[in-house]
Amino acid sequence: MKTLGLIGGMSWESTAIYYRLLNEIVRERLGGLHSAKLLVWSFDFAEIAERQHHGDWDGAGKLLADAARKLQAGGAEGLLLCTNTMHKLADQVQAAAPIPLIHIADATAAAIQHAGLRRPALLATRFTMEQDFYKGRLADKFGLQPVVPDAPGRDMVHRVIYDELCQGIVTEASKAAYVAEAERLRREEAADSIIMGCTEITMLIGQPDFDIPVFDTTRIHAEAAADFALG
Ligand code: GLU
Repeated sequence: MKTLGLIGGMSWESTAIYYRLLNEIVRERLGGLHSAKLLVWSFDFAEIAERQHHGDWDGAGKLLADAARKLQAGGAEGLLLCTNTMHKLADQVQAAAPIPLIHIADATAAAIQHAGLRRPALLATRFTMEQDFYKGRLADKFGLQPVVPDAPGRDMVHRVIYDELCQGIVTEASKAAYVAEAERLRREEAADSIIMGCTEITMLIGQPDFDIPVFDTTRIHAEAAADFALG
């Protein structure tokens, strides 16, 4: 089994979910007392979020690259960036540590393709919903046609991620707002599926809340990482 390096803490709420999922998946596949071999680098998310919201992506990229180098030096054989948003800096991270970076958007797009779907509603941070690094990759590399909420919807989805989920707050009101937003995208934008495109959204909603397929990026990413680790 290969050792995985997790670049986490963005936020730790979802890194904790990754930790549990990776161990559960390895136990399911190998049985008995088997568990995942992991190194975790966990940031103080306040330091990252401040750079994100000030547009200091270069500064954030340097921190991530440094974490990648440290994980590789510690023995990691593959890297997981435990956030969709920070895949904006995936190339910078990959350049810092020449071990495979398991890309969350690629794993998610492959799952959507495999299900024969094309037009996912993307719920994520404003950065992921508005910039091209994620939507563009889904479109250019996988031929998908992601749709995103309108401006007020994006504000709501983004606010719930930073003000609630990343702080461990889960409310029925926000769950209802997310379900309503995804429903609207299905009705008005012909979305055929939903990408939970932020690694904390799995705390709030899931497949039982919807009639169309839901793609949980945290779980999909963890499954892809286990595939890599177990070869
Ligand atoms: N974990 C989130 C994501 O998957 C948001 C936090 C961040 O900006 O990294 O995008």
